[in-house]
Amino acid sequence: MMRRGLLAASRQRWLAQAVSSNRLAWLAARRFVAGNTLAEAMAVVATLNAAGIAVSLDHLGENVTAPAEAEQASRHCLEAARQIRQSGAHAGVSVKLTSLGVGLSVDLAARLLRDVVAGAASLDPPVFVRIDMEDSALVQTTLDLFAAMFGESKNMGLVIQSYLYRSAEDVERLIRLGAGVRMVKGAYLEPPTVAYARKSDVDAQYIRLCTRLLSSEALANGVYLAIATHDPAMLAWAKQFAATQGIDRNRFEFQMLYGIRRDLQTALVAEGYRMRVYVPYGRQWYPYFMRRLAERPQNVGFLVRGVLGELRS
Ligand SMILES: Cc1cc2nc3c(=O)[nH]c(=O)nc-3n(C[C@H](O)[C@H](O)[C@H](O)COP(=O)(O)OP(=O)(O)OC[C@H]3O[C@@H](n4cnc5c(N)ncnc54)[C@H](O)[C@@H]3O)c2cc1C
Repeated sequence: MMRRGLLAASRQRWLAQAVSSNRLAWLAARRFVAGNTLAEAMAVVATLNAAGIAVSLDHLGENVTAPAEAEQASRHCLEAARQIRQSGAHAGVSVKLTSLGVGLSVDLAARLLRDVVAGAASLDPPVFVRIDMEDSALVQTTLDLFAAMFGESKNMGLVIQSYLYRSAEDVERLIRLGAGVRMVKGAYLEPPTVAYARKSDVDAQYIRLCTRLLSSEALANGVYLAIATHDPAMLAWAKQFAATQGIDRNRFEFQMLYGIRRDLQTALVAEGYRMRVYVPYGRQWYPYFMRRLAERPQNVGFLVRGVLGELRS
């Protein structure tokens, strides 16, 4: 119930404005957001890299409402890729199609995505571009754009959400392409017509899809799996599965979000696994922050107390 309320609130523009300008809300969000600027984010990248952790850098901003904002988002993404290369950081970039204007025009988003992928691929060595997956209404468009562009550049990967019923078929398509896949459980508000609601069903499909993406057929096709979760049960399963199947630790990686389960991130590195952290930065942090609260509603009490306190003062 709380999860659904928070996810519904994440789409409210008036709340975004109220919360984004609240100092205490920003202090709470800082746990999950590396800062407002690319310079602040690059400092976090350097610290994580020094601890043996790779990064996927995300300039926050989604559901833009004007083409100029989408153009600006693509320029931000390319600038991040350039700075990653200049600094020699071990990092790629993540991008959302709604930040590139897919809600305004699929052609606009396709053109801007092509610019980002081509620009990142032209760097030496190339900087990897991951397309985040958003709500279910966008999955088909995202997969189709990805498939069209993957033919032009292999320097890109996609995300699959295990809560969606359709994901088993989508995984087969990505295996045929030989694509890099980040497997997540899914963070958006979805109806029971398209997505599992029960954690046990989402987890069971998570394991089924990872099993398929780690199969010898998938690995032979060039699939590289990122197991993106903080769930100790999923992590234990993945470690055990890779060990019993004799899958080399360099053939997959674990991924987590900035500010969540740092203890597990460090432990996995110490055990010799590849680890990458998703590092978001920028001023448009409200929807991202709300999704993180929805995943763990215990965090909400602190935020509500802080915001109410500030309103009263
Ligand atoms: C690298 C990365 C990229 C992602 N990209 C996408 C994407 O493109 N599209 C998409 O839909 N989703 C994305 N997600 C989010 C994902 O779908 C889940 O919502 C999120 O990872 C929580 O699920 P979980 O697998 O950690 O398992 P859960 O079962 O939700 O949580 C397991 C445990 O992890 C810890 N935990 C989880 N979330 C939090 C939190 N917010 N705060 C504190 N502790 C927490 C808790 O200890 C919890 O018990 C991404 C996640 C990661 C790690």
